[in-house]
Amino acid sequence: MSDYATGVVVATEVRGPRTKTGSGFLQPSVIAEFDDLWDRPERVAVPVAHLRQADVWSRVRELPIDRAGLAEAVGRIHPQAYVDELARDPIRSDPALDACAAVLTMGRAVARGDVRNGYALVRPAGHHAATSSAGGGGCVFAHSAVLARELQSLGFARVAIVDWDAHHGNGAQGIFWEDESVLTISLHQDREAWVSSDGSVDAVGAGRGSLRNANLPFAPGAGGAAYALAMKSVVAPLCARFVPDVVIVSCGFDGSNVDPAARLQLCAADYFEMTRIVMAIADAACDGRLVILHEGGYAVSYVAICLESVLLALSGGEPAPDRYADRWGEGFAGSPRASDLDLVRASIERHKLDVHL
Ligand SMILES: [Zn+2]
Repeated sequence: MSDYATGVVVATEVRGPRTKTGSGFLQPSVIAEFDDLWDRPERVAVPVAHLRQADVWSRVRELPIDRAGLAEAVGRIHPQAYVDELARDPIRSDPALDACAAVLTMGRAVARGDVRNGYALVRPAGHHAATSSAGGGGCVFAHSAVLARELQSLGFARVAIVDWDAHHGNGAQGIFWEDESVLTISLHQDREAWVSSDGSVDAVGAGRGSLRNANLPFAPGAGGAAYALAMKSVVAPLCARFVPDVVIVSCGFDGSNVDPAARLQLCAADYFEMTRIVMAIADAACDGRLVILHEGGYAVSYVAICLESVLLALSGGEPAPDRYADRWGEGFAGSPRASDLDLVRASIERHKLDVHL
């Protein structure tokens, strides 16, 4: 184990010309490729710029991307025909492959014990991708699934994937629907469940994967108290029963108070608290082995603050002052609503957990 308990891998390649042409706009000659309305290069560039000048950067160890074994790892989830088709569009596929390599780099570092936990700061996201389709949200490869299979190949047989992106983690749910070796849990906003996905509390997996999938679809406005309750009353006991060898988090920040994609009303302190809870889950189950993967999050300046909070938690620090906190007003430290309690109770009941609220 190195002096650094927390690793970070950043995939933010800046190269090549922007190929999309606007209507009369003068395009910069060099800018990060793979750019669309939601998945902007700024999604990673802004948080990285913030973190590199923040105190937290001295607490973590930045790892270079290792591309060894990338094709084999991707091939465990995605058919070659899908990979080949993507390769015809390198503007899209090259950054996606870099992102996947960064995810694998971080996961392997945790598996080897080089670091105790780590964060892969990548784009595009991966949690909507299925085996042969991107699935929307700018996703290309199913990062958490690719990493889960890689970790299993390294001897970590049981993998838990906790997805707190504001959208449903439909990719991992679908890929591992009948798989007893991977526990998939998604906390998301019910009205934002991704197109044609089933993010309902009743979707619990099937066959050998029965009761290996959990969904907590919150109504808009849930807030940190509801999320903390769900983490402690559903995610923690599910993991305690499953006993994973490693925990992966699909970490979107589009549940934040200022994000345009959802209305889940989470703030930086909530992401700190959720990270601490999932660290305790990993400590109890698997010597703290925890790999956090960057997913959505579109209010980029606040994503930077929330991500700083996650890294502070991972590296054993104290919460940073939230420079936006005076804008949140009252209510953010409140109690879960009756509807949130009903949802958590419903999940407890579906999964036959010995938890009483
Ligand atoms: Zn999202």
